[in-house]
Amino acid sequence: MDNEKVGVSIQDAKGVWVFAEQREGKVMNIAFELLGEGSKLAKDLGVELSAVLMGDNVDGNIKDLFAYGADKVYFVENAELKDYRTEPYTEMMNQLIKEYKPQIVLIGATNIGRDLAPRVAGRVRTGLTADCTQLTIDPETTNLLQTRPAFGGNLMATIICPESRPQMATVRSGVMKKKEPDYNRTGEVITASYDKSTKVRTVVKEIVKEAGRAVNLEEAKIIISGGRGLGGPEGFEILEKAAEVLGGVVAASRAAVDSGWISAKHQVGQTGKTVHAKIYIACGISGAIQHLAGMQNSELVIAINKNPAAPIMQIADYGIVGDYKNILPLLIEEIKYV
Ligand code: FAD
Repeated sequence: MDNEKVGVSIQDAKGVWVFAEQREGKVMNIAFELLGEGSKLAKDLGVELSAVLMGDNVDGNIKDLFAYGADKVYFVENAELKDYRTEPYTEMMNQLIKEYKPQIVLIGATNIGRDLAPRVAGRVRTGLTADCTQLTIDPETTNLLQTRPAFGGNLMATIICPESRPQMATVRSGVMKKKEPDYNRTGEVITASYDKSTKVRTVVKEIVKEAGRAVNLEEAKIIISGGRGLGGPEGFEILEKAAEVLGGVVAASRAAVDSGWISAKHQVGQTGKTVHAKIYIACGISGAIQHLAGMQNSELVIAINKNPAAPIMQIADYGIVGDYKNILPLLIEEIKYV
């Protein structure tokens, strides 16, 4: 690659960065997960781990970033950065990267991260690997090996960015593990100022919250998930009731989402959410590899399926053969008293 066109040269680049996404002033869980992963990468490289925090009145989060592993926090506070907007966030990241020259930048594959990461990569003239599921350092070259599913999840591709820095990756929520926080840890805060001279200005007038029960699958302890085997949207009403009794949330396979029985925010799998539930109950889900990619790290998997040979039975801790309409009510009664 032409060195002139590269934002940060390989020789100058040092350190691992995590973009600390905040919403309504509070840093999101994904940032702590990325700090957990970033700590390992930084240790392997023998470099510092830093978090980048932007917003308005968000300094209360700095102690959490240190507790979860950051050695340094790049901090930008300005009313203009209160809520995420593409241009100021992109430009601010661009300026920070060019000034402080990290070798790795990790960003959550959230709606915000998916908007921000490619724009930053474009502006600093580097590559980006989206939706990574594994990140390791090649001991020989010290390149970041960025692994992600490819060809419909049929193979895992490992991608490197050998000629430009930073090496940028997005990672989905729930894929990486956060460390136990240590509130005795502290570190350096580098304050940067926001330059208002960006070309485009957008004003956020109002943030409208989605109506209905919030779905936070990534952090749910109990998940009841439905697939095509539910036979229609009414199947999800039964699952909703069950979720209420068990204190869990409802998820779905892509087949159910594509059928229009439930919204896409409930989808678990390769192109949906990645979950780590304590109990994952799969009802009428066959267990396609793309579904398993999003839930197989759950602690206890219970599968309810008419077909004893369904692939989900291979990974289930408990497989119950039969119609979910008959089995689910009995199972709820049992679990209720555990
Ligand atoms: P089916 O495979 O049709 O399974 C239905 C199951 O229900 C069967 O096992 C059947 O025995 C059982 N059943 C039927 N009636 C009953 C009953 N009354 N009681 C109990 N059991 C019953 N899929 C995802 O889920 N998430 C993803 O993120 C995802 N991403 C994808 C990305 C790509 C690129 C591709 C190509 C595919 C992706 N898929 C994804 C789709 C995936 O390949 C499967 O098609 C999908 O997971 C199947 O959903 P299902 O198990 O609900 O349906």
